[in-house]
Amino acid sequence: MIRRLLLVASLLTSQLVASHLLSGAEPPPLRRVVVVSFDGVGGRALWREAKRGTFGPDGFLRAERTGTSAERMEVVTPSLTSVSHAALSAGAPPSSTGIVANMFHPATAALRDRVSGFDTESGVETIWEAAARQGKRVASLAWPGASQASARTRTPVGLRWADPQWRSFTWKGTAADAGFEDALLSLPPEQASFSPPKVLPVHSATSPGGALDQLRFVAVDTSDDGRKNYDLLLVLRADGSVAARARPGEWFPLSEHRTEDRGDRDVLVGRWCKLLALTPDLSGIRVYIGSEGRSFASPDDFRRTLDREAGFWPGPPDDALLSEEPDTRTFVEQAARFAGFFQRAFSVADRRGDWDLLLAYVPCVDEAEHALLLADPKQAGYTPDRAALAAAALREVWKIADETAAAYLSFAGRGDVFLVSDHGMRPVSRSFLLQELLRRRGFLETVPGPRERLVTAPGSRVDAVTAGAVGYVVVNRAGILRDGTVPAGEAELLVRDVAAALRAEKDETGRPVFSSVLTRNEARSLGLNHPNAGDLVVLAAGGRTLRHGFTDRPDAPLFVSAEPPGQHGFGPDPELDGIFFEVGDGVARKKISLVRSIDVAGMVAARLGISAPSGH
Ligand SMILES: [Zn+2]
Repeated sequence: MIRRLLLVASLLTSQLVASHLLSGAEPPPLRRVVVVSFDGVGGRALWREAKRGTFGPDGFLRAERTGTSAERMEVVTPSLTSVSHAALSAGAPPSSTGIVANMFHPATAALRDRVSGFDTESGVETIWEAAARQGKRVASLAWPGASQASARTRTPVGLRWADPQWRSFTWKGTAADAGFEDALLSLPPEQASFSPPKVLPVHSATSPGGALDQLRFVAVDTSDDGRKNYDLLLVLRADGSVAARARPGEWFPLSEHRTEDRGDRDVLVGRWCKLLALTPDLSGIRVYIGSEGRSFASPDDFRRTLDREAGFWPGPPDDALLSEEPDTRTFVEQAARFAGFFQRAFSVADRRGDWDLLLAYVPCVDEAEHALLLADPKQAGYTPDRAALAAAALREVWKIADETAAAYLSFAGRGDVFLVSDHGMRPVSRSFLLQELLRRRGFLETVPGPRERLVTAPGSRVDAVTAGAVGYVVVNRAGILRDGTVPAGEAELLVRDVAAALRAEKDETGRPVFSSVLTRNEARSLGLNHPNAGDLVVLAAGGRTLRHGFTDRPDAPLFVSAEPPGQHGFGPDPELDGIFFEVGDGVARKKISLVRSIDVAGMVAARLGISAPSGH
């Protein structure tokens, strides 16, 4: 069926081309297009920041001044990253893409199976497939959904998202000066130390060091003043050469070229580290060792040029820095580095020039808002001081996003630039335990799982997937789900009973816990009538989120505090709108009231002079 649609579509295109030739009309101009997705940049939040004077003249404000912008960009439900990008990519809602959450239960899999919405192929054609089918070449830079894992998710030029290899950690020296051993090694000739160099046993108790084990961390004293005052950290390789040098407060990369790494040859791998503190008497030392990263990109010469010109994949800012005493400065510096990496990756791709459509991704605002959207006194950990610190850091990240927008807009003289996003973000204070409710009402059976935690039993009649404020209740239908247990004759009754129980559930003020409890048919109104969305789609009421898992005690509260403080993935809500800007030759300077995220693929196709993805 899909094959036939493709054939019809390509016939149409060739007819279009032919009719242009026959009529002697101007063929559509050959335009190149860059689409940049700013993850987590909410429309309302962006206009608020614009009013506050957060932005410079060359970023979002330039796009507003010189192109078409939308007051509202309505995103799909649920407003989750993979779901929203799938809809942007295909020009179709989740009911067509089948991508309904970042982790979801695929319709026919065993009850407890989950797949990633980022790795799943769209149920309908994507813009990069439509472009390829019509002879256009596509590049993608970590665009969600273009995972490069299969023919359908691959682009000819592609950098894929990479999760960190080794976890980050902060090593804290606890002993005073005397506690560290003298370094029984000769320092490099250019590096004098006027006190005995001391070896710092930098390591992680929980995360294996990988290549770190080959390095030695040494504190040295570079001032010839007759006093023991250490002021520099040296990192030495096994052969005695210097891998890095850092003064307190400075970042340093620890990187190496590996002849072979996971199938690629000659790969740059590294970790960004920071000397957070080094007191002269060595009584207070903190060394932050970032997670290990590398770029996965193709073709191989693109990856090699990225290694050379953009450095190793630095990874997203690290939530661990915000846990005890929040170090928002270091977090923001990481956000800036990641954004800078993507800008350099774009420069490399731009210089190659072998693409008509480039899909780019800027994740910094999403990452920062998840961790830092502390704006409601009801949130766990809220204090006015912490909220002010978090808000100041967030504003810095908005500036980084704006500078990144400016960098991409420099392409505008040579093609179109679309600036879009997938969702906004809200502060949340409470989450509701949906699976535990189903267990207490007798619909869901559990068994002990790893680390003595309860998990859903494989033969349970019902399970639930939660994502943001959305829950999908799945009935374990025999003959449909692998190893399903509920006979066809009982399934509909069970759906009805579960729906009634969920609708009856009230919070302590007597208000319903769920604002919507919808059957598959009813979920059509949300664009969620897809088998991957289970038998019931529920939305939490009152700006709360849903959480998976079970309580230890049968009478423990079903509401728990929300983690992290910022969240998205709610039902339709203007506060969670995305953004839309288009700048390019001949693009009208105007503000339009509404663009839907499912319209974007068609608009991009039109500017490329191709037909839209076929599921459009
Ligand atoms: Zn997102």
